[in-house]
Amino acid sequence: MTKYSVKVISLLFVFFFCTPAGAQSVFDTYFNGKRLRIDFALSGNDKFQSAALMQLQEEPVWCGPRENLRSPFDYGGYTLDAYDKTSKTLIYSHGFNTLFEEWRTTEQAKTEVQSWTNSVAMPFPHNPVTVVLLGRNRSTNMKDTLMVLDIDPASIFIDRGKLHDNPVVDIQLKGDPSGKVDLVFLAEGYTASEKDKFFADAGRFTESLFTTPPYNQCREDFNVRAVFLESEDSGTDFSGKGIFLNTALNAGFYTFGTDRYLTTPDMKSIRDAVWNVPCDAIFVLVNSEVYGGGGMYNFYAIGTADNERTVQVFVHEFGHSFGGLADEYFSSETAYEEFYNLKFEPWEPNITTLIDFNSKWKDMLPSGTPVPTPLEAPYADKLGVFEGGGYLSKGIYRPMDHCMMRDMHPFCPVCSKAILRMVDFWSDRKVQ
Ligand SMILES: [Zn+2]
Repeated sequence: MTKYSVKVISLLFVFFFCTPAGAQSVFDTYFNGKRLRIDFALSGNDKFQSAALMQLQEEPVWCGPRENLRSPFDYGGYTLDAYDKTSKTLIYSHGFNTLFEEWRTTEQAKTEVQSWTNSVAMPFPHNPVTVVLLGRNRSTNMKDTLMVLDIDPASIFIDRGKLHDNPVVDIQLKGDPSGKVDLVFLAEGYTASEKDKFFADAGRFTESLFTTPPYNQCREDFNVRAVFLESEDSGTDFSGKGIFLNTALNAGFYTFGTDRYLTTPDMKSIRDAVWNVPCDAIFVLVNSEVYGGGGMYNFYAIGTADNERTVQVFVHEFGHSFGGLADEYFSSETAYEEFYNLKFEPWEPNITTLIDFNSKWKDMLPSGTPVPTPLEAPYADKLGVFEGGGYLSKGIYRPMDHCMMRDMHPFCPVCSKAILRMVDFWSDRKVQ
């Protein structure tokens, strides 16, 4: 907990627990129903990082929760906290990951300083707010303050202009955006003549998601839309093969030098594309048949449309971006070095270093399960604490031998529970 949040905790208690029945809601007290987008640069290397404001944008619709204004999860390498400037009350808190954070664990970050564009949104405030961006420090596991902004909602420095209106198809609408998960598919690498293919691909992915447990239990909690962006070229970049195309979101394989790691660093173009669309979760659908993808918590997930394993990749990557889930595999090639610090408990719900296993799935274990759990009968196919996960074969433990987050098997019970809790959160229900 930061010094700033310690100072306001007594005020918080008063506010969140003593609002009289029938009084104006917390949301309506502080926010007006529009969205405030904050674009910022993260710069640094493996040892340090800093943040700087790039742009503030007023967008038409806040579609996130109106009750769950402070995330209960404490997930993500970064946290955006917004305080009412006058009362110092914490009125919004949101965790997320970035691609820049992953880059900081690569070999390149030991010798270079880089700067990456990022973007995060919050409800648009009625009154001046103090926004604090925190970054989790790998060495200390504490959150460092990276940026403090005083934002006056009446400021002439907030861009309130319209952006490009893209064609949108509503794949399924189940209710008011504030009470639903608003999932958006974004087109990448589709030319004008491939527009119908994109909408068909997005529809196919939607059906796949809702036939996959646990999403088959909660289809009614999702609104799904597809936003078409026209690309000049069809396909995506393969920088390792010298292929560079002109596409809407500048995606490509060979992220951090890994051939199957497909991402885009162009977060500004992604956020521009959804400026007027209710959007809690983004999946960038890339018009390619090559295997690959990526996903970062509350940032975006990305995958290709036409590989034979494309549906599993989508559900796996969406597990990262929507569920905050870690990779449970530990033998595949990645460019990461020391992605997790074994001195601390990772924040992801589906891996543990056993530093604080009580905070993870201990309460779900069958009685008599040894911790750690040997990968042998009678435990091997049950919930346990099996060594190997998070890119390491030693020191990190996973809940089951097989899971969607390891090898495309059905989600383990721990991942399923984490996903359903996240659905509750975005649906504005109380998170158990
Ligand atoms: Zn799992």
